[in-house]
Amino acid sequence: MPSAEVVSIGTELLLGQVLDTNSQFLAIELAKLGIDSYFRSTVGDNKPRIRSVLRQALERSDILITTGGLGPTADDLTTECIGELLETPLFFDEVIFDQIKKLFASRNFPMPDSNRKQALRPLGSDILHNPRGSAPGLIWKLRQEPLAKIGIKDPERPRLILTFPGVPRELVAMWNEVAAPFLLKHFDAGILWSTELKHFGIGESALAEQYAHLLDLANPTVAPYAGHAECRLRVTAKAHSIEEAQALAKPVIEEIKKGSAYRCYGIDGETLESVVGKLLSQADLKLTVAESCTGGLVSQRLTEISGSSKYVALNVVTYSNQSKIDVLRVSAETLNVNGAVSAECAEEMARGALLLGYADIGLSVTGIAGPDGGIEDKPVGTIFLGLAAKDFYAGKILRLGKASTRSEIRFRTSQEALNMVRLFLLDRTIIAPKPWSTNQKSVVS
Ligand code: ATP
Ligand code: MG
Repeated sequence: MPSAEVVSIGTELLLGQVLDTNSQFLAIELAKLGIDSYFRSTVGDNKPRIRSVLRQALERSDILITTGGLGPTADDLTTECIGELLETPLFFDEVIFDQIKKLFASRNFPMPDSNRKQALRPLGSDILHNPRGSAPGLIWKLRQEPLAKIGIKDPERPRLILTFPGVPRELVAMWNEVAAPFLLKHFDAGILWSTELKHFGIGESALAEQYAHLLDLANPTVAPYAGHAECRLRVTAKAHSIEEAQALAKPVIEEIKKGSAYRCYGIDGETLESVVGKLLSQADLKLTVAESCTGGLVSQRLTEISGSSKYVALNVVTYSNQSKIDVLRVSAETLNVNGAVSAECAEEMARGALLLGYADIGLSVTGIAGPDGGIEDKPVGTIFLGLAAKDFYAGKILRLGKASTRSEIRFRTSQEALNMVRLFLLDRTIIAPKPWSTNQKSVVS
């Protein structure tokens, strides 16, 4: 198999200000494709040093992969250095320039003149499409003559140069959607097919432990990833066709789905809000949400899904005590005795929302998102959720901890709230597995 060398470019990486996660990602992904890695380098934003590292990598490896330095600023030097190393002039690519202009127009930003620089590429190179950002990278297939011209050893061995931007989410998208399929085809190594099994209610390490026996598989491979208040298991199979890859992955996917049961909530592009929407539609039920500490985040996520008016009845943000009384009919006594952040208030909010929205399910969220406002028995991150339906009520307390930021607490709470609706729709007996820790009241009534 060919060998690859990743060169990460950026002074901030050398200084330790930014962790080189791109090299780690690429190392894992290259191994999955069966491409060897014998060297890896990092270099700062300095032209002579970049050229020297690129030359060395090109000499000793078959594939040179760069990350960083594709941007429009003066310290973005990668393309220029590649052109200089191979003694090849850069030309202005109108197609790339058009894409950059369109991207700025779609975001309603004027395009700074410096972005013209991103449309330059060496003669003879091809475009590596960037599905997420302003500028693409390069794919450059090099044969004997240009390599011999600059005195590279073994010029008869073909070389390949791929360049990626430094922004990790752009690099990951380019790799998955463009570069990995290209490399497999180029080396006639078949195709790569992968799917992500999204989990909620289990941590990354618990997931890795549960499926430890699958993490060493060679084909398909299984890898856990921590997401944004959730985690994922990615199953990737390599084969000569998609059908063959899917057949290889199928037993492993089935094993995970069975083992994870309700903790696996969806795959790939699915989100908790899209799954809740699908379940509500299928059951032909309507939901109404009353939020306090999340300030409408649950509502916003639910209504981000097109067609959600079919199942979202009415959402309210009742932030003040008075609005909880006026809009949701929470009793003044509950607020005085138990406070707005209490199991009792969450229950009255959920029941009030149910009536207010003429809905089938009423969901409530009340808590302390911080960083201020915590008290001894209710520290920052104490959240009460309530779910009311006909002849049904379940409450849940979350203790998300002071260590989390306000936005993390709010997002995590929205995940838990959506998940509560999902579990209710799947099987109401699993909705709140932990009993109340405050008043030991039964959770499901
Ligand atoms: P831009 O158009 O944003 O300038 P670029 O291709 O020039 O993109 P850089 O300027 O090198 O890339 O880096 C852009 C961002 O990506 C920086 O904020 C940097 O912190 C981050 N970054 C760069 N290289 C890496 C890396 N190897 N691993 C993780 N993050 C990185
Ligand atoms: Mg840059």
